[in-house]
Amino acid sequence: MNKILIVGSGPAGLTAALYTARAGLEPLVVDGIQPGGQLTTTTEVENYPGFPEAVDGTSLVTLMREQAERFGARHQRGEIVGSDFSGTALKITLDDGTVLESRTVIIATGASARYLGLESEQKLMGRGVSACATCDGAFYRDVPIAVVGGGDTAMEEALFLTRFGSKVYVIHRRDEFRASKIMAKRVIEHEKIKVLWDSVVDEVLDVEKNEVTGLKVKNIKTGELSEIAVSAMFSAIGHKPNTDPFKGQLDMDDVGYLVADNTRTNVEGVFAAGDCQDKSYRQAVTAAGTGCMAALEAERYLEKQGQ
Ligand code: NDP
Repeated sequence: MNKILIVGSGPAGLTAALYTARAGLEPLVVDGIQPGGQLTTTTEVENYPGFPEAVDGTSLVTLMREQAERFGARHQRGEIVGSDFSGTALKITLDDGTVLESRTVIIATGASARYLGLESEQKLMGRGVSACATCDGAFYRDVPIAVVGGGDTAMEEALFLTRFGSKVYVIHRRDEFRASKIMAKRVIEHEKIKVLWDSVVDEVLDVEKNEVTGLKVKNIKTGELSEIAVSAMFSAIGHKPNTDPFKGQLDMDDVGYLVADNTRTNVEGVFAAGDCQDKSYRQAVTAAGTGCMAALEAERYLEKQGQ
């Protein structure tokens, strides 16, 4: 049986792998649906300590992975679809039916971008609808683009997209941004950005043409509908923690974030790190930090069990 099973291979999972590998515990890391995690959808990371000239997200996680492998971390491809933490052998099931058993499990499954939930949005996914400006922004040069949301992610995406788009609309459902003051100010004052306050997207156009050509926007105060021409819509309305496979097994809050006390979940031997248990910081460095904490907690737990 494995001593340490780590689910997820972003900064939280890979840091947990590094620490537990150095402790001689030969962790097995299940890569998950997006190997490397959300960082692989980022270009420049300017706020990870130790990289004064910035580093691109994929290179950063590749370095983390190499570092963990150097000390004996093992990897397995696969997506987790279920878990059973009722016995002393903690079990997780992968999409190909494989059941992995371990004495401890560190969950670092991260979070995924949320979408508006419109049928037209779903149909035009990847055809102008995206949730990652850094991945897809460069496809939309010299054309108008829209970003939906009012948090820091929306501000960051909108400012980034001004590098490409001829004009960037920010569509927000209230008359005030949730984002930090400094980011909001940059957006409001940017000459290429136009904010549509009190507004929601009613429909993404044009499903018939199979590409985004515009948006039907509704002002929720007046009920007025209008159309804007854009070639892309970036959803920046928050994230959903990837914790469905742990429903009924682990305590979570009403939106699905795992409840953890210093990374310890309600089940002995099961720890949570990174964005799947963090709705307030969501940074690569905090994910790595909690990955380290979970590793140390798991080591202590195994030691106490005399294993
Ligand atoms: P937030 O939860 O902060 O913001 C989500 C935004 O989307 C809100 O403005 C919300 O509106 C809006 N929204 C939510 N659901 C819908 C919907 N169905 N339709 C329309 N609008 C909707 O998420 P973020 O991803 O922006 O940020 C998450 C955390 O990460 C925050 O703590 C943020 O500060 C942090 N972060 C920090 C960054 C940095 O410091 N560089 C960069 C990016 C994120 P409403 O305001 O009305 O609720």
